[in-house]
Amino acid sequence: MANIKYYTEDHIPLEMHKVRIIQKLHLLPIEDRLKSLNDSGYNTFLLKNRDVFLDMLTDSGVNAMSDRQQAAMLVADDSYAGSETFYRLEQKLTEIFKTKLFLPVHQGRAAENIINRTLIKPGDTVLMNYHFTTSKSHVTVNGGLVEELISDAGIEEESELLFKGDMDIGKLNEAISRLGADKIPYVRIEVGTNLIGGQPVSIQNMREVSAICKQHNIISLLDASLLADNLHFIKQREEEFKTKSIPEITEAIAELFDLIYFSARKLGYGRGGGIITNSQQLFDQMKELVPLYEGFMTYGGMSVREMEALTIGLDETMDEDMINQGPEFIAFMAEELLKRKIPIITPPGGLGCHLNAMKFLDHVPRGEYRAGALAASLYLASGVRGMERGTVSEDRNPDGSDHLANMELLRLALPRRVFTMSQVKYAVDRIAWLYDNRHLVGGLRFVEEPKVLRFFLGRLEAVSDWPQKLLEKFRADFGDSL
Ligand SMILES: *Cc1c(COP(=O)(O)O)cnc(C)c1O
Repeated sequence: MANIKYYTEDHIPLEMHKVRIIQKLHLLPIEDRLKSLNDSGYNTFLLKNRDVFLDMLTDSGVNAMSDRQQAAMLVADDSYAGSETFYRLEQKLTEIFKTKLFLPVHQGRAAENIINRTLIKPGDTVLMNYHFTTSKSHVTVNGGLVEELISDAGIEEESELLFKGDMDIGKLNEAISRLGADKIPYVRIEVGTNLIGGQPVSIQNMREVSAICKQHNIISLLDASLLADNLHFIKQREEEFKTKSIPEITEAIAELFDLIYFSARKLGYGRGGGIITNSQQLFDQMKELVPLYEGFMTYGGMSVREMEALTIGLDETMDEDMINQGPEFIAFMAEELLKRKIPIITPPGGLGCHLNAMKFLDHVPRGEYRAGALAASLYLASGVRGMERGTVSEDRNPDGSDHLANMELLRLALPRRVFTMSQVKYAVDRIAWLYDNRHLVGGLRFVEEPKVLRFFLGRLEAVSDWPQKLLEKFRADFGDSL
């Protein structure tokens, strides 16, 4: 708890900002929520935002901007080629990461497209601490395979481990000697490891991975999309860095990798993305793909306004008072849920609070998508929209069977600087009600199922009339209340 300024008596972390622009929210009655759940195929991605009360789907592109970011957007330099705005962003990235070369892209997966088209040959295997949905798909569509080298302890749902995102060094050495370094185009470390609950990676671990990559001449790659929360956790949890500043910690990380990419929809309270490196060779290999897929070299699919906002947002990412907010809010929400004995991923990470659907709905058969059913039932009970991060988020195995995920999570993202504490507490209250009535929740099955990234557009239905039963219980308990 080193670097938060103050907690209230009931342990609420103090925000170091005030809210100056607001957006009105709507809370539909539960009958209307059931209708919109049916209309959206029990997939929270397909809900209309106007039917959602608290949107905890993601932190992607929905972090609140600051007054300085909004002001910077007004001085954006509109030009197709050679925009001043681009050079300001490039300069900021160099200042923060000490990298000289920058390829702009429209979002994180666009960086993945360019990197994997450039580096993957059919038959290659990419080693990762853990996959992210789009990061894996871009490897596989280019003919590569993915191996995840997270330590077994990293995917235990409840743990005391401080750096659950660390790569298992023993597994890394084993994989390299088994596959051969020439079959491994790069080793990818994802900080703030998304799909296991926004869990951090230690610098100690990144140093070991980087040294092994150097020894075998394998490219080391950092997915820095969720770097901000990871910086906070390093400062809090890694002894060597307790007295270091956030910019110093950032530098210590950046120097370990040959290639870094990020989604600015997460990093920098912005929109857009980029690839940065000091390797002229890698830069030259990739650069032609930017005008082909993204846009000219000085915008890469981003609007100049987005780039100005990102430049300021990256600066704010170096400010402890700012990056504390996300993880501290999450820790508070997690603490409240734990008090009520609700199963969540511990220790809480960044990005959001992660309900453990494997346990929450342990009576629902694995093949009926526990995390999906939890996402649907929580929306019904509260108007809160979370994101399924379990088996629905895994595409099927080549033989057509479901690829059962290691973890069945409902992610409740807390986009940075967006929600108030009463809203967080409302979500906790309704989750607690749902937990008390969890035996009423049943499973889901697919009715329309895309082959790739099925979680985005797939449609499901309830296996029984459980949603109606849950609605009736809600009415019995809450009367006319919304
Ligand atoms: C979101 C995310 C991406 C992809 O970024 P988009 O901007 O959504 O395309 C890649 N890696 C991680 C860790 C992410 O969280």
